[in-house]
Amino acid sequence: MDDHALLRYSRHILLSELGVEAQEKLNQSHALIIGAGGLGSPASLYLATSGVGKLTLCDGDVVDLTNLQRQIVHRNDSIGVAKAVSARRTLLEINPDIEIVAVTQRLTGEALEQRIAEADVVLDCCDNFATRHAVNRACVKYRKPLVSGAGIRFDGQISVFDMRYDTSPCYNCLFSEDQEFEETRCAVMGVFAPLVGIIGAMQAAEAIKVLTGCGETLNGRFLMLDGLSMEWRSLKLNKDPECKVCGG
Ligand SMILES: [Zn+2]
Repeated sequence: MDDHALLRYSRHILLSELGVEAQEKLNQSHALIIGAGGLGSPASLYLATSGVGKLTLCDGDVVDLTNLQRQIVHRNDSIGVAKAVSARRTLLEINPDIEIVAVTQRLTGEALEQRIAEADVVLDCCDNFATRHAVNRACVKYRKPLVSGAGIRFDGQISVFDMRYDTSPCYNCLFSEDQEFEETRCAVMGVFAPLVGIIGAMQAAEAIKVLTGCGETLNGRFLMLDGLSMEWRSLKLNKDPECKVCGG
């Protein structure tokens, strides 16, 4: 690390739990962020400022006026611009020392698998079950740590499914694809702006812990936030031996 980098990341380096070694690990890491919306905004901002060396941002949407209430990586002059491109622009303004790849389509199939295979950590910041399950399947296949977040109305959820370990549950162990879950969307239900900020920032925190080995991640735990009462609930998660994605 040169003097410039030592200064930029000095407040992380001062933390004995991180230090130069962890910072160097971050600088050499690659995080894949699926979704550059309410969760992906704070997640990508903190990973960029923290110096994760390469970020791949995937989002098939363009910035809309209704996004700006909570999607804090985008600017008013980005309305109509692809979200991945808009986010890349903001992030490079803050930290030009990292590499950012903008993918402007919703990834599916082999293209999604390939991106996941190349990443050190995957952040699921998307807004639909089909993508969540596809991302989870690929993380199980390539044994990648998955940091999963969700937020709607005043309710937030976050967990880590660290598929580097045989004993870890996967997303499908918790929300089986066979069960019917009602798809809820911010466009219909509304969403409290800071709620996605809280969850997205936590996703960045968990990703940094996954990449550096600092502290203890949320692997095997599922946190739920009620933003109205500001109460957290924590559930312990076990691997489902019958799970069609990671079991058997
Ligand atoms: Zn599973």
